[in-house]
Amino acid sequence: MNKNQNNNMNTSRREFLEKVAILGTGVAVGIPNFSFANDGKPAILGGAKSHSGNFSSWPIFTELEEQGLTGVLKSGQWGRLGGTVMSQFESEYAKLWGAKHCLGVSSGTSALYTIFGALDVGPGDEVIMPVYTFIATYNVAVLNYALPIFVDTDIESFQIDSTKVESAITKQTKVLMPVHIGGSPANIDHLLEISQKHKIPLIEDACQAHLAEWKGKKVGNYGLAGAFSFQASKNLNCAEGGAIITNDANFSKTCYGFHNQGQGGSTTSFGTGSGTRGTNLRLTEFQGSLLLAQMSRLQEQASRRDENAKYLNKLLKEIGGVEPAKLYDGTTRSAYHLYMFRYFKEQFAGLSRDKFIEALQAEGIPCAAGYGQMNKDEYVTSLAKNQHYVKIYGEKTMKEWLERNACPQNDKLTTEQSVWFFQNMLLGSRDDMDKIGLAIKKIKKHASAIAKL
Ligand SMILES: *Cc1c(COP(=O)(O)O)cnc(C)c1O
Repeated sequence: MNKNQNNNMNTSRREFLEKVAILGTGVAVGIPNFSFANDGKPAILGGAKSHSGNFSSWPIFTELEEQGLTGVLKSGQWGRLGGTVMSQFESEYAKLWGAKHCLGVSSGTSALYTIFGALDVGPGDEVIMPVYTFIATYNVAVLNYALPIFVDTDIESFQIDSTKVESAITKQTKVLMPVHIGGSPANIDHLLEISQKHKIPLIEDACQAHLAEWKGKKVGNYGLAGAFSFQASKNLNCAEGGAIITNDANFSKTCYGFHNQGQGGSTTSFGTGSGTRGTNLRLTEFQGSLLLAQMSRLQEQASRRDENAKYLNKLLKEIGGVEPAKLYDGTTRSAYHLYMFRYFKEQFAGLSRDKFIEALQAEGIPCAAGYGQMNKDEYVTSLAKNQHYVKIYGEKTMKEWLERNACPQNDKLTTEQSVWFFQNMLLGSRDDMDKIGLAIKKIKKHASAIAKL
C-alpha cells in the first residue's frame, strides 16, 4: 500500500488508545463514534456517510514496544553486531515460518537486493516478474543492471499469470520472481514446476504475505528464498525493515555476508571479507525489539483479517458487480495485506471505476485503484534509452524489450476494474464490514444518478 495512505487513518489519541486496548485483549468490539442516518442516499449525492472513516489505527502498540525499545537503549548495544535481540527475532521468525534460516535486513527491498547479490544477478541476466507489483520488485532487477521481464496478470486473481511464464523464459533468465500480491499466494505449484523444469531459482517476493500459506506451509519456503518487508504499512511493522527466509544453509551464509560488507562473522571485522560482494544492509537492535513485540500480535491479527475478509467476500457476492480476487486452490491462508476486488461498471449503470471509488471514499470508506500499468510507465519505459542498458543489451534488444512487455490483461484490470481496501480496515469489527457492504449497495442503487455528476 502507498505510504501516504496512513494519513487518512488518523484518529484522535483517545480513540486510538481505546482501539489499542481493545485489540490488545483480542476482543472484537465496534466503536460507535458517529451517528448513522440511513436515508439510503449516497454521501456523494448529499446523503449521510455510511462510515465515520475511522477504521483500526496502524500501527498498534502497547507498553511491550516501549519496554523493548527502552531495554535496547539502556543496554547500550544498539547495533546487531555483538547484540542478541536481532538474532532472537531471527530465530523466532524462522520458527514461526517453519524455515531453517532467517536473516533480518534493513528493508524488503534490501531483502530482495541481498538475494540478488547472493545469486550474483548482473548485466545480461533476465529476471521474470509480475507486472502487477510494487515498484521495488522492478527496482531490484534494475539496480543490478538485469533486464526485468514482465508477465501479464491473471485478471481473476490479480497474481502473475503462471500460464504465461514459460514463454517468457530465455537462455538469459536468471531468476523467476513471483510476488504474492496483496498477501495472497500466487500459483505456487505451477511456478515451482516451471522453476524445477528449467532449473531457474524461484525467489518469492512475499513482502506483503506475512503468515500466508500454500497447502498448509508458509509462503517464502517454496523457492530458494523468500523476501519479507516490515515497512510501516505492512502487516508486520518496525518502520523500515525486512527479512529473508531460506532452507539452504549455504545460501543463508552468502546472504549474511552480502548484507555485512562481505564479512561472514557476526562481529565487526577489519579484515578483507570472505570473498563475496557486499554492502551494509543490517537492521538495528531497536527494530529487532519492535518486531518481537509486534510479532506477539501477528497471529491474532491475521485471524481477524481472514475472518473479516471471508465475511466481506460473502457480502460482495450478494451485492453483485463486485468480485473478490480469486484465491488459487492451494491457498490455505491469505495474509490480506490488501483486500482486492474487481468492479464491473456494466452492473452499476455504466458508472466508471474511478467515479465508483470517489463515491465510496465519500461514504467514509478508504479505497484506491491500486497499482497501474507499470510496463507503460515513463519511469520504466525510459530504461530502453538508459545508456548503460543500451551498452549492455544493444539498442535493438531494448526496443524489443518494450514490445515483449505488453500486458493486455493488466491494462484492463488496472484501468477499469481493480479496487483495494487496506489491511487495517480488516482489523475492524463485523459492523465495519457491514457498513462497507451498505455503502456499495447504496452506490449501486443510485449508480445512474452518480454517473451524471
Ligand atoms: C513493500 C514491498 C516491497 C519493498 O519493501 P520495503 O520494505 O518497502 O523496501 C517489495 N515488494 C513488494 C511486493 C512490496 O509490497
